[in-house]
Amino acid sequence: METYIKFNKSATTPQIYDWYSIDWKKIHKYVKKLRQRIFRAEQLGQRRKVKKFQRLMIRSKANLLLSIKRVTQINQGKRTAGVDGIKVITGKERIELFNLLKNYSIKHIQPKPAKRTYIPKKNGKLRPLGIPIIKDRIYQNIVKNALEPQWEYRFESIAYGFRPKRSAHDAIQQLYLKLRKGSKRQWIFEGDFKGCFDNLNHEYIISCLDEFPEKETINKWLKAGYVDNNVFNETNTGTPQGGIISPLLANIALHGMEEELGVKYQVSKQGYFLNENSIGIVKYADDFVVICKTKEEAETMFEKLKPYLEKRGLTLAEDKTRITHIKDGFDFLGFNVRQYKSIKGMTLLIKPSKASIKKAKQTIKEVFQQYRGRPVGEIISKLNPIIRGTGNYWSSIVAKDTYSTIDYYIWLKIRKYLKVLHPKKPWKWKMKKYFRTDATGVSRDKWLLTDPNNRNNQIIKMQWIPIIRHQLIKYKNSPDDSSLREYFINRDEKEFNRFNILSKRKLAKKCKCICRACNQSLIGDEILKVNEIIPKLLGGKDIYNNFELLHLSCYMQHQFLLKKYGGGKEFTKIKKFFDEKDIIPSSRAGIKLMKQQFESFKYNCKEKWWLEPYVVKVTSTVLRGERNRKVSDLPDIRKTVDFENLSWEG
Ligand SMILES: [Zn+2]
Repeated sequence: METYIKFNKSATTPQIYDWYSIDWKKIHKYVKKLRQRIFRAEQLGQRRKVKKFQRLMIRSKANLLLSIKRVTQINQGKRTAGVDGIKVITGKERIELFNLLKNYSIKHIQPKPAKRTYIPKKNGKLRPLGIPIIKDRIYQNIVKNALEPQWEYRFESIAYGFRPKRSAHDAIQQLYLKLRKGSKRQWIFEGDFKGCFDNLNHEYIISCLDEFPEKETINKWLKAGYVDNNVFNETNTGTPQGGIISPLLANIALHGMEEELGVKYQVSKQGYFLNENSIGIVKYADDFVVICKTKEEAETMFEKLKPYLEKRGLTLAEDKTRITHIKDGFDFLGFNVRQYKSIKGMTLLIKPSKASIKKAKQTIKEVFQQYRGRPVGEIISKLNPIIRGTGNYWSSIVAKDTYSTIDYYIWLKIRKYLKVLHPKKPWKWKMKKYFRTDATGVSRDKWLLTDPNNRNNQIIKMQWIPIIRHQLIKYKNSPDDSSLREYFINRDEKEFNRFNILSKRKLAKKCKCICRACNQSLIGDEILKVNEIIPKLLGGKDIYNNFELLHLSCYMQHQFLLKKYGGGKEFTKIKKFFDEKDIIPSSRAGIKLMKQQFESFKYNCKEKWWLEPYVVKVTSTVLRGERNRKVSDLPDIRKTVDFENLSWEG
């Protein structure tokens, strides 16, 4: 460690040449702070400040790095190439990309058309996706970070789709509150826009962006067109699904429904409530319901929505837009909301919708078809995430009956599958070979399909998933509001507990649901990995103290740095280091030291090169109060430093 400090004081500043040595803690912190400043300025109505911070964000190197990470390392489509066929997979490629992009101004980019692919929809039709090239995706993420916080302040409290820390569960919980026992509003207007994402009016979207600095670039993306089967098509309307910024643009375009329909709130000590005579809306991206007191009121919505629709270039899909009474129930986001008669009077129950149960069964059926005759272990590994994922999605509502239905369905499929696997063996033989009691001992299930080669690889049951009510996000709360830090830490912890098994919950509680490597919440779309703080090779033990949860990318960084500075796979340097200090690695002091060491092998960002905007040509009139920078002023990050000379003991 001492060497490291000395090293940093020396003339050569360590520059970024190694993807795995980036200190993401500082990068994240900077971008988050800037997002919060945009939010705050918007809150205070300081338009010039909003614009200034947005410009800073768009040209921030930290934002560029983070966007490269998000697009090429975290997002689902990270391995999908656009029309140019370029993928960015290794750390080296990411650094090369950073070196390239930091020299460009977003203003001058020429977006490439998106590549059109299709994914199947619930009703059997295909949903078109437009995949932009990697570079455009990165730029879109950069711009999104500048635009989103401004709109996070503006968005309606009842808008839940594609927004940070909001989900379909919030929308459903909000519906429950609005329709539960005693509610005077019982008539539901189920609205559905006809091809919403294909038809949104571009001029309207752009007109919503006021003075946003990269308005023109957004327009270029909207007009970039797409390539389908080698044929180029223009896009004159719509925000193609698949782009990083598209959901945000759709949300911006669809914003304003409450105002248009005259929804009114009143404030009390408990929070915000609908005015007694007001209608209520719940919206998830392009799905929405309006809740009214009478049938007549619900019928007026067709007329009242007209100006809203016209401005945005939308129409209602006649076959899907209807008016229902709560006793008849309706489907929303894969759930069925309906009032039932019970002993205590009328009760509102939310259950999985028939269509979503059917879809879950279909997915399971397809797995069995695909794995016909394959080993048991493989099918278990494929099925478990599906069972857990689907079950979790339903876990905030009345789903116990559905869980049993699905478990029984899987059981029938297993029997059929084993029949194919061993057509001549008797059932008793199959039971003995493939079924065991629950290895974890948590449930009393005796007959779980088990991999004969791995006792711990067992099928899980949906019935094991506990039903826990979801904590609805409060009114307009947004993670970009710096005053709500504690609120979101608490909420994340609850959220984490809902979706994870006990052992992971214990680990998450230890770190308050925050990843040690990047200081960000463990809740999100990134996969988590359990990391051994002291590796087994160094005598690490199987105890909770020695385990921690990290994001997958953070885990990879951790492993990489350990090998790189710890003397390769054998960690010889670390061993020597601990020996000389006379510390047992697996002891409490050892774990602490190990964590410290990990910190010191990341760039410590003393020079703050990443704080400097990366745009090359900017005039001082545009950048009030900021220095003019030329390429030559910027540190040349291609110059590499010999990090191999660093060692654990110095
Ligand atoms: Zn992390």
